Amino acid sequence: MEIEFASLDDNLARFTLSGARPGFANAFRRAMIGEVPTLAIEDVRIYDNTSALFDEMLAHRLGLIPIKTDLSSYSTQESCSCGGAGCPSCTVTYTLSVEGPKMVTSSDLIPQDPKAAPVYDNIPIVKLTKGQKLVIEARAVLNRGKVHAKWQPTLVCGYKNQPIITISDTCDACGMCVDECPRTILAVKGKKVAVIEGKLPDCSMCKLCERACLASGIGEEPAIRITAEPDRFIFVVEGDGSLPVKEIMVKALSFVKEQADELERQTSEISGEEKK
Ligand code: SF4
Ligand code: SF4
Ligand SMILES: [Zn+2]
Repeated sequence: MEIEFASLDDNLARFTLSGARPGFANAFRRAMIGEVPTLAIEDVRIYDNTSALFDEMLAHRLGLIPIKTDLSSYSTQESCSCGGAGCPSCTVTYTLSVEGPKMVTSSDLIPQDPKAAPVYDNIPIVKLTKGQKLVIEARAVLNRGKVHAKWQPTLVCGYKNQPIITISDTCDACGMCVDECPRTILAVKGKKVAVIEGKLPDCSMCKLCERACLASGIGEEPAIRITAEPDRFIFVVEGDGSLPVKEIMVKALSFVKEQADELERQTSEISGEEKK
């Protein structure tokens, strides 16, 4: 199994996973979305709210603000030594006290731990008119995306099989498939159509080119064929900024490995018992 990056920065990764089965590719995708913990606001105490938004709506909006997460400093409440009561190892508190006229944004949330500040300063929470007030205290905890979408570290996390485009010698370079392709992947080169260099990963495998070729009157078989490599996957992963994308990938892979090890341990235990 191999991972080859086409691009990588803290917020976005494009890479190819080769030599993997579809089950593994999907487990990896699901682990990145649902099993890598991040911080998100879970409890909100509202002391004063004369804004136009209900308390529940405010709490919902606060919960969706991405928060920078240092996984070496925080643990989930269930695994924390405080037993889930809430302590500085599993909980971050924030205060917010503002009076209108003002657009209240994520920068108005003052964290008790500066390392756990909101990822972006300019996320709007609510607009206050003159004299309106908002005074709250909020608590963020570490949890997983499978519990609630607010704990997902990814905004985009998907894959597709690597496309294969084959062009046979029956191609007469009529160019109908070139005009039909919505991703401008094809071009006529000499007496045949060809894939433009570097464009193959952009193919969505919509097969409009095959249909155009058949419509050109070529016969029963199109000269262009779209198939996919069964064990090669193109991934796009975009993070919300709470964790670097590389860390999301590493944590997700460790989770899949732990699950596989546990399954192996349990199956060998069962087969050991059966032999007795
Ligand atoms: S399958 Fe769709 S995107 Fe791919 S080359 Fe054909 S028309 Fe273009
Ligand atoms: S439509 Fe068919 S025959 Fe025409 S250029 Fe495309 S592949 Fe060749
Ligand atoms: Zn704790």
